[in-house]
Amino acid sequence: MCRELFSGFGADPREAIDAVFEAEQHDPVVLRNVTFYSVCEHHLLPFFGQAHMAYIPNGKIAGLSKLARALECACRRLQVQERLTAQLADAIVAALDPKGVAVELEAEHLCMSMRGVQKPGSRMVTTAVRGSFHNSPVDRQGLLALLRSK
Ligand SMILES: [Zn+2]
Repeated sequence: MCRELFSGFGADPREAIDAVFEAEQHDPVVLRNVTFYSVCEHHLLPFFGQAHMAYIPNGKIAGLSKLARALECACRRLQVQERLTAQLADAIVAALDPKGVAVELEAEHLCMSMRGVQKPGSRMVTTAVRGSFHNSPVDRQGLLALLRSK
């Protein structure tokens, strides 16, 4: 079980995005509602939820499943949600050098649900935005809005 849950230790999420294609695409690409499970490094209890990610290509696009693979790589280890969010955004930057990237994670933490203040159903939301958005059809706020649109 530990081998499976912590299989991301020692792996680099940037290397998980290994299928990259040239493309003249400059409009945003959005991947929403990717379920993930990770383990809180402070309490050794799971936190889990959905990841949403979007990027504005700058000549390169990624195989879609590779974004989910980068997420898997970064969450299959002891984590804090803030760092997981940043690692995923940085992996997309490293692989694609896009004009902009936005990542948002929303998750329930069992260390807050089943113990401590005992507030099940509460979800923590973390965001990471990267890129210059130079010559981009969409700005930072626009990308975040796309990420959150249902
Ligand atoms: Zn915790």
